[in-house]
Amino acid sequence: MEIRYTAIPAPRLEAMRDAGKDEFGNKWQLRVAEGWEPLRCCLRKAAVDEDIALICYAPWDSPSPWMEAGPVFVHYEACSGYPATTEYPELFRHNKAILNPFDHTGARAYDHITFLDREDDHEAALTEVLSQPEVAFVHVRSRKAGCFHFLAE
Ligand SMILES: [Zn+2]
Repeated sequence: MEIRYTAIPAPRLEAMRDAGKDEFGNKWQLRVAEGWEPLRCCLRKAAVDEDIALICYAPWDSPSPWMEAGPVFVHYEACSGYPATTEYPELFRHNKAILNPFDHTGARAYDHITFLDREDDHEAALTEVLSQPEVAFVHVRSRKAGCFHFLAE
């Protein structure tokens, strides 16, 4: 099974930058990174003094009752994104995470929600969840902050 890992799509970020606000109306505002912020546009950690923005993001592109929106850091300007779409993002391999799975109708697949600790094999756990026939895709989130990391299909 090949898993595809997707960061926030560049065209959506571009539309937000052009509009000067995120999809929830929050101003696209420049922040200077302290160097710990996980960036959801390219799935790496911000460098000290890098130009970033804190936005509200919901990883759905059409209305859904399951929609969850939350704060994420992204680059203030356009970046190269996450091109290694078949590789588990290194940045999120050893954190406390939740695998939030959805079925083919877009409803949450409650039976396969999985909580991961730092020492767990995140990639193996994700492969296991995605191999369930009823699971269509998974949102990987932070267990601590609840915020969205990336999409896995
Ligand atoms: Zn970026």
